[in-house]
Amino acid sequence: MSQPVPPDQVLAHLEELRSGDLPTHGGRTLAYVYDSGLAEADEVGRRALAMYASSNGLDPTAFPSLLTMERELVALARDLLHGPGAVGTVTSGGTESILLAVQTARDAARVSDPVMIVPTTIHAAFHKAGHYFGVRRVAVDVDPVTQRADPVAMAEAMDEHEGQVVLVAVSAPSYAHGVIDPVDEVAAETLRRGLRLHVDACIGGWVLPWAEELGRDVAPWDFRVDGVTSVSVDLHKYAYTPKGVSLLLHATPDLRRAQFFASADWPGYTMLNSTTQSTKSGGPLAGAWAVVQTIGRDGYRDLVATTLDAVDTLVAGLAGIEHLHLVASPDSSLVTVETDGTCDVFTISDLMLRRGWFVQPQMSFADLPPSLHLTLCAATAPSVPALLSALSEAVAEAVAAGPIQVDEGLRAAAEAIDPATLDDAAFDGLLALAGLGGDGGEVAVPEQMAPVNALLDVAPPALREALLVAFLDRLSR
Ligand SMILES: *Cc1c(COP(=O)(O)O)cnc(C)c1O
Repeated sequence: MSQPVPPDQVLAHLEELRSGDLPTHGGRTLAYVYDSGLAEADEVGRRALAMYASSNGLDPTAFPSLLTMERELVALARDLLHGPGAVGTVTSGGTESILLAVQTARDAARVSDPVMIVPTTIHAAFHKAGHYFGVRRVAVDVDPVTQRADPVAMAEAMDEHEGQVVLVAVSAPSYAHGVIDPVDEVAAETLRRGLRLHVDACIGGWVLPWAEELGRDVAPWDFRVDGVTSVSVDLHKYAYTPKGVSLLLHATPDLRRAQFFASADWPGYTMLNSTTQSTKSGGPLAGAWAVVQTIGRDGYRDLVATTLDAVDTLVAGLAGIEHLHLVASPDSSLVTVETDGTCDVFTISDLMLRRGWFVQPQMSFADLPPSLHLTLCAATAPSVPALLSALSEAVAEAVAAGPIQVDEGLRAAAEAIDPATLDDAAFDGLLALAGLGGDGGEVAVPEQMAPVNALLDVAPPALREALLVAFLDRLSR
């Protein structure tokens, strides 16, 4: 690093480093990345991102072009989500949109022991928000068949915590199972009690408006539902923009006010921020603005049509794969499957990766067995038949191998461990035991994830969290 390296060599080195990553394009990575398959839109997004890489959203009066782009993106979203009086902010991602929604609700309410009421399926970003902002999360069980939020049980939780509830949240759709919560029924309860209701449409917000336009059945979820006070929509998912862009919309300026932060109480410039970042690159915003202009409303309708047709083809094809079935009927572009116990999803995931497909394993939760999550986007559509045959082969191979058996003693030991009592050396030992590293404290991502995942899956969530934090800590030393 000490000697200057010529730019072409630097770039060649980056290409080489990147070759070890999951592919971001081509439609075979069914999580983390979103590919429209439109090379022109990608190119425009990258160029805009580069053009604005050095501009600073810290001060919109110094960079008015950023304000223009933000206002135009918000105006489009407001129109799509039917919130004529809504206001919005561009954030760095779904998590930041959710953090700000929770912080805003907490600060507006000014209660001493703030609580949020959410279904158990709400995205973990709400857990993080509760953790950061001291808002206690009350998670309410969902319907065991549909995996949708249970409005009656949520209303009971609202009453039980009367006077403390600063926010209620639901998903459209949920990440884990791809189903839309009954937003209207929950809204009836929050409205009656004068509570804020956030709809997490991070992953569905740029799909569902066009699904409806295309004549598909879409349960009510946006600002047309009386009582919805805020909505998060990620552009770096189904708007197919470069990473680092989401929208947080509030139904009125009043509801948003507590989101903004100012400090004049120091000798420097008055810090005035709408988001958690202060200095922020204009790159992602410009990239998003450019991609949204390039694809346009009609373009998105076509992409959504392609994607949802692909979901239909996948669902129909899955019916023909023995040992695999849907966890819930998908309401959007996410498909989640589980096995009948003759094989395990972790082995299937490894076998799929060997065939060039990344499908995301999800650990067991409460009464639900582990599952596989498939995020479909437009670029995957032409390859759905190939995806189905790869799945079919992987399942057959996984059934032949049989499900991974975790030693009973190990399972019992895992259940008995209190992660709070473990020291660094104990974590080194446990990570080695889990297959994530040597006893000396060095760690590595293993070739075969299935045995590691199967072991982590039997660990109670608190131990799993602690182990993975220890793993990340060592990976990043
Ligand atoms: C992706 C997602 C989030 C979190 O968004 P990030 O952009 O990963 O921070 C929140 N909620 C849902 C439903 C999501 O799909």
